[in-house]
Amino acid sequence: MDELAQRILKDGRVLNENVLKVDSFLNHQVDVRLIDQIGQTFFEHFRNRGINKILTVEASGISVACSVARCFHVPMVFARKNQSLVLNNDLFTAEVFSFTKQQKLQIFVRKQFIEPCDRVLLVDDFLARGEALKGLADIVKQSGATLIGAGIVIEKVFQDGGKRAREFGLEVYSLVQIASLDKNQIQFC
Ligand code: 5GP
Repeated sequence: MDELAQRILKDGRVLNENVLKVDSFLNHQVDVRLIDQIGQTFFEHFRNRGINKILTVEASGISVACSVARCFHVPMVFARKNQSLVLNNDLFTAEVFSFTKQQKLQIFVRKQFIEPCDRVLLVDDFLARGEALKGLADIVKQSGATLIGAGIVIEKVFQDGGKRAREFGLEVYSLVQIASLDKNQIQFC
């Protein structure tokens, strides 16, 4: 995704050596044309794998996940976040350490939305320490569905989440990989 990399260089802002802001086109204001190209790229990579459900976590993964789901003609489900969740038998839940909020959150999905027969693709805007992916994978496991892989828009390779997820056996397909944000510079792999 050359265009995505160019856009990151043009409009991305390095907040510090750990955080990249892309809220002018990816996760606050959304460039729908670019998001649709991203969705199509994930579709081409994961097509013919029997995927029938796209799963992400609110809020910043939703626009990309919608676009991917549109290409596959399947539903998109987003895990919701809650700081303290009352035990509820209708929900799959997982604990996630939020990279942006730097605190533990519960994420949950209503059980009826992921079934054992489902073949699930995870989608998210960023991959940092891999906590969000781990929580989503945990929910898929609880449901008995099959986890096919993960499509990530921006992987920050220096934060190790991708390495850990791949070691764990998950197929992670990232559109751009960032090696470093040091000295206010975006260095792609
Ligand atoms: P992880 O769970 O892999 O540590 O972090 C991924 C989640 O944190 C993503 O859902 C994303 O919303 C958020 N995130 C991680 N790194 C960044 C970043 O550099 N910029 C922004 N805007 N969000 C990030």
